[in-house]
Amino acid sequence: MIRADLVVSNLSEVATLSNGSVPRVGSAAADLGRVARAAVAVAQGRFAWVGPERALRRSVRLRRGGHRVDGQGGTLVPGLVDAHSHVLFAGDRAFELPLKARGLGYPEIARRGGGILATVRATRRAARATLLAQTTDRLLGMARSGATAVEVKSGYALSVRGELELLRRVPELRRRTGLRLVPTFLGAHAVPPEAHGDAEGYVDRLVREALPVIARERLAAFVDVFCEPGYFSVRASERLLRAAVALGLPVKVHADEFVRSGGARLAARLGAASADHLLTSTPEDYAALARAGVTAVLLPLTAFASSPARRSPARELVDAGVPVALGSDCSPNAWNESMPLALALAVHGGRLSPAEALTAATVNAAHAIGLEDAGTIEVGRPADMALFALPSTDHLGYRFDACPVAVFRQGNPISSRGFRQ
Ligand code: FE
Repeated sequence: MIRADLVVSNLSEVATLSNGSVPRVGSAAADLGRVARAAVAVAQGRFAWVGPERALRRSVRLRRGGHRVDGQGGTLVPGLVDAHSHVLFAGDRAFELPLKARGLGYPEIARRGGGILATVRATRRAARATLLAQTTDRLLGMARSGATAVEVKSGYALSVRGELELLRRVPELRRRTGLRLVPTFLGAHAVPPEAHGDAEGYVDRLVREALPVIARERLAAFVDVFCEPGYFSVRASERLLRAAVALGLPVKVHADEFVRSGGARLAARLGAASADHLLTSTPEDYAALARAGVTAVLLPLTAFASSPARRSPARELVDAGVPVALGSDCSPNAWNESMPLALALAVHGGRLSPAEALTAATVNAAHAIGLEDAGTIEVGRPADMALFALPSTDHLGYRFDACPVAVFRQGNPISSRGFRQ
């Protein structure tokens, strides 16, 4: 008999995502390992039992002082995993929206004081307490929307010291929110004004001064680069990422978002953990990613924010045998704290089935950020889960504004102050 601290019962469906190898590729991406009329039990922060409701009573007893949650016929899914975010910033760029609405392009908006460098100025200026408070608010918004694990990139300080400082803020954000946070070093997000357009020189500094500290102090789980014309060339990106790999740091690439500059090919060549965006990549690029086993992290909200006509090639990538994951890409450019909304756009614009999109937002996203024990509901795994008032997972993505009625991290429900740890 299992002694549980928490039982969630009366669920019309539990999507366990527990079948098959990780990441899920091709037709396996649609297999959610569903259990109908189900319940789950948690002991000491981990799933202790998952099964049909009728077997619950003979298998599980609630410990004295334990909690029972009535799922009210809802659907339980693993805590959502946000595989790509720029959530660590200060200020906002709401002023850009009317300019975008008038059809101004990114370079013109940057000339008028907008763009990444506007956020760099705001983030550099912000007091430590302000940056932490603003970022905590956003992370808690993500958690209320169902995320229990979030990748957090640096990238708005753009100096060696400032970028390392941003990464050093992540443990405090973890304490404040109770979320599982995975830090990624994105010092190469843009060329800082002080470098006067010398991207190569700036990369030299990152390689010489930042990467060794990051590797030594384990400040980041990944190293990423914005590989686009006007930012970092394929050559400069490759130099940075090869230096990271040599230090044992896995890499990611912002690839082929604006133009097909070769970012996806670079990710395939390096055996990167992921290639992200891929809006302009070709079928040949998809094949290269599939051969190299690189996960595609798609960010459909960013595509939508740049133009509603743009769509992430989710269907094409799944059909090409590439593992597909999702992220919010929450940033001051496209401020989105909702993984369910990203999932809905992956279904509509990206043409995934709701099941494929849920796989991309859970087990495959966890794989993309190196969390091999997240994104599933399985005995022994951390009890991270989101309860939706929906009759089945078929309604995820179908209902654009789906928001969970309860979210748990290690069996603890979210409160206004985050998850208790
Ligand atoms: Fe990004």
